[in-house]
Amino acid sequence: MAANGRDVVTMDKIVGLCKRRGFIFQSSEIYGGLASTYDYGHYGVLLKANVKAEWWRAVLQERDDMVALDAAILMHPRTWEASGHLEGFTDPLVQCLGKCKKRWREDHLREAEAEAEAEADADADAVAAEAGGEAAAGANEELRCPECGGELSEPRNFNLMFETHMGPLQDEGSRVFLRPETAQGIFVNFKNVLQFARKRPPFGIAQVGKAFRNEITPGNFVFRTREFEQMEIEFFVPPSQARDWHERWVADRLRWYTDLGLRPDHLQLREHGEDERSHYSSATSDIEYLFPMGWSELEGIANRGDFDLAQHAKFAREKLEYVDSGTGERYVPHVIEPSAGADRATLAFMVDAYDEEQVEGRERVLLRLHPRLAPVKVAVLPLVNKDGQPELAREVYSELRRRMPAEFDTGGSIGKRYRRQDEIGTPWGVTVDHRTMEDRTVTLRDRDSLEQTRIAIDELGAELERRLAAPWMSPKLG
Ligand code: ATP
Repeated sequence: MAANGRDVVTMDKIVGLCKRRGFIFQSSEIYGGLASTYDYGHYGVLLKANVKAEWWRAVLQERDDMVALDAAILMHPRTWEASGHLEGFTDPLVQCLGKCKKRWREDHLREAEAEAEAEADADADAVAAEAGGEAAAGANEELRCPECGGELSEPRNFNLMFETHMGPLQDEGSRVFLRPETAQGIFVNFKNVLQFARKRPPFGIAQVGKAFRNEITPGNFVFRTREFEQMEIEFFVPPSQARDWHERWVADRLRWYTDLGLRPDHLQLREHGEDERSHYSSATSDIEYLFPMGWSELEGIANRGDFDLAQHAKFAREKLEYVDSGTGERYVPHVIEPSAGADRATLAFMVDAYDEEQVEGRERVLLRLHPRLAPVKVAVLPLVNKDGQPELAREVYSELRRRMPAEFDTGGSIGKRYRRQDEIGTPWGVTVDHRTMEDRTVTLRDRDSLEQTRIAIDELGAELERRLAAPWMSPKLG
């Protein structure tokens, strides 16, 4: 949203900026790219690392009821039998029988059709109401290809797990899967963690890692890819507390996004209807963000009951329960699962931060990122490349980078250097100029307000640390 209140962001602009500034680009580009797979470049790595670090800070460092885990991507194949993925982790695939032969997810087409129908009904109702009559009923139930209008095949259940083989033999016995979610690595380690972590329910296990899904229709840049990173928690609670903890986690996770700058009116909660929920889940709430393509899931928070632990206990013939050493009470904990995507969150933060404005007749593109998320916190720039300014600027930079990620840039005009920093979202800029050489003060520029203040070099580090720790609100909120 620029100053005039219009949201200027589009997915194309985000993709363009990501490529231009080396955040994220097409994977295997020199071979023409591999569909829907992306590589993160320097600033993308730093931004996503900050997203993950903020997640760890909130779910682990600032709590005392969580432990960390990093489980292997390859797991015993029985895991996926127990979890139900082998049987049920499928999407209904339909293929166009007309000209384009494209493949689609039938459920997505039905959702889109239902939405279009609801809109059309509302319009028809309005027209009918105006005419004093009733809207005509009886829409066509049959789905057609959205691309070319061709007929579609019967749906076929398509398993989303990537399969591979372990060892030299490629037979049924060597078949393993790339995990489609990190969650199962947590469940199979429940007993290990109980033993060494000295925790009792309610407590959680948190994990960040790659997951793989052979999605039928990946797309919207890094929103839906076949290889992605998840940030997942399995939070184990006494069964009677499950409902309460579910509500607490929904509130906590929503607050995490707004604390890091996402505009509250671009976030919404969506409760899954009964027909949509997995058979084991008694409640699932999605946190949705208003992406350029519309409201879409950022994170799901499910109340999974005791399904997972009970299944693994059955398949592994292990007791997966909590036994209170004092009272002897034993039970299978229920599980609340806040499951977020690191790539989707990174994309949402970029989308929300993207802005364009006119400054002195020139267009400025910038990312108004929360300073804690920004890949670089401060850029140190000599005004001119002579008169001792670069040397002193380098000194200032060397001092600052011990405290926070900083950059030193001497290349090109000062305006061009600032435009570059604005586009990567650097919240503060320090300019060393002729006055610095006399009184050891520098200009400190604020990315969002463009306000410039004069500050002594000796006070700079402490001032920037103070600003970095301060609460922050998106300037788009006005
Ligand atoms: P969707 O309905 O969008 O396919 P889902 O409900 O299958 O998502 P979950 O299984 O709940 O997703 O996964 C938890 C989180 O992992 C999602 O909220 C999302 O942030 C992330 N995620 C899931 N699938 C993908 C993907 N293909 N690409 C990127 N992130 C993903």
